[in-house]
Amino acid sequence: MIMNKILENYLVYLNVIEKKVNKFFDEQKPYIFCKKGCAKCCQNAEFPFSKIEFCYLMEGASKLPLETKQIISDNITKILTQRKQCTKEEFLYTCPFLINNVCSVYQYRGIVCRTFGLMNIGQDGRVKVPFCCYQGLNYSNVLEDGGTQISREKYQKLGYEKEPVAFNINYNFLTDADFENGFHFKFGEKKPLIEWFIQPDQQSPMPVEFPLTNPNIK
Ligand code: SF4
Ligand code: SF4
Repeated sequence: MIMNKILENYLVYLNVIEKKVNKFFDEQKPYIFCKKGCAKCCQNAEFPFSKIEFCYLMEGASKLPLETKQIISDNITKILTQRKQCTKEEFLYTCPFLINNVCSVYQYRGIVCRTFGLMNIGQDGRVKVPFCCYQGLNYSNVLEDGGTQISREKYQKLGYEKEPVAFNINYNFLTDADFENGFHFKFGEKKPLIEWFIQPDQQSPMPVEFPLTNPNIK
């Protein structure tokens, strides 16, 4: 593994965050319907990735078999073409690393990939349920009928010990400078995952060479 001290520090941070997030998922188990093969959250999104997250993702991607890399590379090329043709302000796509509804770089996935599925407190201080709540998945068993709020009545009827709660795990908070200072690394530039595959000197899609090595982390 290509590793330097900065990346090592990032991994320490990632372990701490992951432990906390796993504990949260565990506490919210009665309301969580995530399972292998459910990948709605890896589709139709922007996937914010900081530079260090992207570098770690590439570390994982570099270990994949050649045929898997080829699939990912083809996905990237396709998405970049769609992006060029997109006229909307926000470009949503399926993550190029999703293959047969399974993440091909699971261990190396980004921060947003690790936290999605829990209720969280947005930057505006409002509670946000994951979108899959409206598709019969996470927290749907406690969602008010036809509404967007959690129903206390439904929770009480279910009789679970732990109530559904929202956590302070939004992406901006988890990639805040306090974490950088505390763990001695920098997140670096943040942008949608697919934009990391655009050559810096041109905005148009080009045949993508699947990166096998990390960009330098400074
Ligand atoms: S967060 Fe929602 S969409 Fe994603 S795996 Fe869990 S249940 Fe499925
Ligand atoms: S890196 Fe993996 S978990 Fe994250 S969006 Fe892509 S496929 Fe999903």
